Amino acid sequence: MSEAATPETFGFQAEVRQLLHLMVHSLYSDREIFLRELISNASDAADRLRFEALANAELVGDDELAIDIAIDRDAGTLTVADNGIGMSRDDIIEQLGTIAHSGTERYLESLTGDQQKDAQLIGQFGVGFYSAFIVAEEVEVASRRADLPAEDGVLWRSDGQGEYSLRQIEKTDRGTTVRLKLKSDANEFLQEVRIRSLIRKYSDHISFPVRMRASAAGDGEDDDETADEQTVNRAKALWTRPRTEVGDDEYIEFYRHIAHDFSDPLTWSHNRVEGKREYTSLLYVPSVAPFDLWNRESPKGVKLYVQRVFITDRATEFLPLYLRFVRGIVDCGDLSLNVSREMIQQDPAVGAMKSALTKRVLDLLGKLSNDDAAKYATFWEQFGTTLKEGLAEDPANRDKIAGLLRYNTTKSDGVAPDRSLGDYLGDAPDDQASIYYLLADSPLAARSSPHLEAFRERGIEVLLLSDRIDEWAMQYLDEYNGKSFRDIGRGELDLPGDDAAESIEAGDDKERKHLVKRIKRALRERVEEVRVSTRLKESAACLVLNEHDLGYQMRELLKASGQEAPAALPNLEINPSHPLIVKLAAENDDDRFETLSAVILDQAALAEGRQLDDPAAFVKRINDLLIETGSS
Ligand code: ADP
Repeated sequence: MSEAATPETFGFQAEVRQLLHLMVHSLYSDREIFLRELISNASDAADRLRFEALANAELVGDDELAIDIAIDRDAGTLTVADNGIGMSRDDIIEQLGTIAHSGTERYLESLTGDQQKDAQLIGQFGVGFYSAFIVAEEVEVASRRADLPAEDGVLWRSDGQGEYSLRQIEKTDRGTTVRLKLKSDANEFLQEVRIRSLIRKYSDHISFPVRMRASAAGDGEDDDETADEQTVNRAKALWTRPRTEVGDDEYIEFYRHIAHDFSDPLTWSHNRVEGKREYTSLLYVPSVAPFDLWNRESPKGVKLYVQRVFITDRATEFLPLYLRFVRGIVDCGDLSLNVSREMIQQDPAVGAMKSALTKRVLDLLGKLSNDDAAKYATFWEQFGTTLKEGLAEDPANRDKIAGLLRYNTTKSDGVAPDRSLGDYLGDAPDDQASIYYLLADSPLAARSSPHLEAFRERGIEVLLLSDRIDEWAMQYLDEYNGKSFRDIGRGELDLPGDDAAESIEAGDDKERKHLVKRIKRALRERVEEVRVSTRLKESAACLVLNEHDLGYQMRELLKASGQEAPAALPNLEINPSHPLIVKLAAENDDDRFETLSAVILDQAALAEGRQLDDPAAFVKRINDLLIETGSS
C-alpha cells in the first residue's frame, strides 16, 4: 500500500470516547481477548464477502479466504489481515468512529465504576474492534472494499484518545489489515508461541484458516508471504462437526464469537436434522440479558447460513419474538443460496423449522430446569419476563411455556420466584378448583397484602405476581392441568370451607348492613360498593376490583403508552370484627365518621402499596385524628 492524500482528522463520537476510556481502564485482566475480537471481525468480513460473491462471483476470484497474523518484534507490532469484504471510507467512518446501538448513552451511564462488574457489562455490549486499544498505543487500519478499485483504499489511524485520522491510500489487496503498535507492557503478544496458543484457544472454530508464518522473525512486508505459512486453527465450521467431538470450551468460544458476549452461555443445543428438510442448528441460552432486550429496534435473530455460506446475522424468521434472547446459528441445506428476506418469509419450510426450533428451545429450557435449578433461576431472572410474552404470542405452546413459569408464592422461602405451577398443584389438595394469584407492585407489597389473610388461614398457596406484564400475560393463561386461574384481588371470593361467609349472611346482620350503607354514603364517589369481607382476618379493610375492570398494572401499561384507561372505582371490603371498624360503627358524629371512613379507605390502598390520589389530605385527616385523641 502507498499513502496518497493528506490525512483528515475526525473526533470519535462521545459514546465511543467513553467506552474506549472505560475499556482501557477496566479490562486489564483479560487483555488477550482483543485478538479473538479482531479475528472474529476478520472472519465476519470473509463471511460477508462470500455472501456478496453469490451475486457477483468476481469479487472473490481465486483467492482462498483466510486471515493472516504477523508479528514484527523490531517494530513492536502485531498485524491481523483479512481478504474479506473490506471497508470504504464511509464504512470506516461509520463503523470505527461511532456506536450504532440505540440506548448506548443510557447504558454507559448505568456502569457501576466497579471494574470487574463493568468489564462484564462492557463484554455484553460487544466492544469488538475497540478492544485493540487495551493493548495498543496506536492502531492502524488499512482497508479497501472488495468492489472498489485499488486507489480507493483508506488508512485509519488512532491512539484511542478521542480522535482518529483518515487518508486515502492505494491498497492492492482487498480486505482489511489491522496493525497494532503494542504498549510496552503488552510485549507478551509479540511472542509467536503465545499468539499461536491464543488462536487455538479462541479461534479454533472460525471457518476460515487463521495463518501465521512459521519463522519467529516474520517482519517486514517483503517476505515471501506464502513461503512457510501455517494454518494454526482447525478452520472448520464448528456446527458441521459431530456433537461428540466438540468440547464444551469450544462451544463456549463459538458462542462468544457469534453473540459478542464475554459471559458463558447457560446451555445450548446442537442438532442436525436430516430427511425432508436438512438443517443444522446450534442454539444458545445466554446467562445475561443484553442491555437492550426490551428495545424494539435492538438486534435479534439467529445467524443464518445456507450450505455453510453466511447469509445474515439477524434472521428473525426462525424463532418467535418471545425467544429473542436465544443466540445461535441455523445452517439450511436446502434453501436457495440466493435467498432474499421475502423468500425466507414465504418459504413453508422455514415455518416448519420455526416450530421445530421453538420446541427445541422450550425443551432445552425444560431440561435445564430439571437438571440445574441454580442455572434455571439465573435464566428466569434474566429472561423470565420475556418468556411470559409467549403466553400471548404462542398459543400452540402455551402449556409448555406454562410449565416453565416460575413464581414467587406464599410458600416461597424469600422473594425469589422459585415455584412452578407443577409445584403448586403438587402441594394443593385435589379438590382445590383454582390456582390463586395476587397482582401487586412488588414482591414485598404482595407479601403483606391484606388479601392474603383468608388464604393464609386456610393454608392455600397464592402466586404473588409483580412483573409489570403479569396482569396482561395472565389474560392468556386460562388453565393449567385442568385448573383455572383466579385473581384474588377481584370479585367475590368463594373459598373452600368458607363457613365464615355463610354465617355472616345467615346472621342477616342488620347493624352491619346499616354500617355498610353509612360508609358508602360517607365515601360517596370514591368507591363503587362497600361490603363485608370474607377475605380479611387481621386487617380492617381492603380494596377489591370488579371481575372485568382493568387492573393497576394494565392501567400503568396504558398510561405509559399514552392512552387513557377507562374509569373504574374499587370496592371497599371491611372486616366488621376489627377494632377500628367496631369503633367506626359506634361513631355518632357524622364528620368524624366521614374522616375515619376516608382514612380506612386510604389505608387499604396503602396496605397494597398503591399511591394515594391525595396524600396530603390523608396526612391531614390522620393528624386531626391524632390531635383529637391526644387532647381527649
Ligand atoms: P461488531 O463486530 O460487534 O459489529 P466491532 O466494533 O468489532 O463491532 O466492529 C464494528 C464494525 O466495523 C463491524 O460491524 C464491521 O462492519 C466493521 N469491521 C470491523 N472489522 C472489520 C474487518 N476486518 N473487515 C470489515 N469490516 C470490519
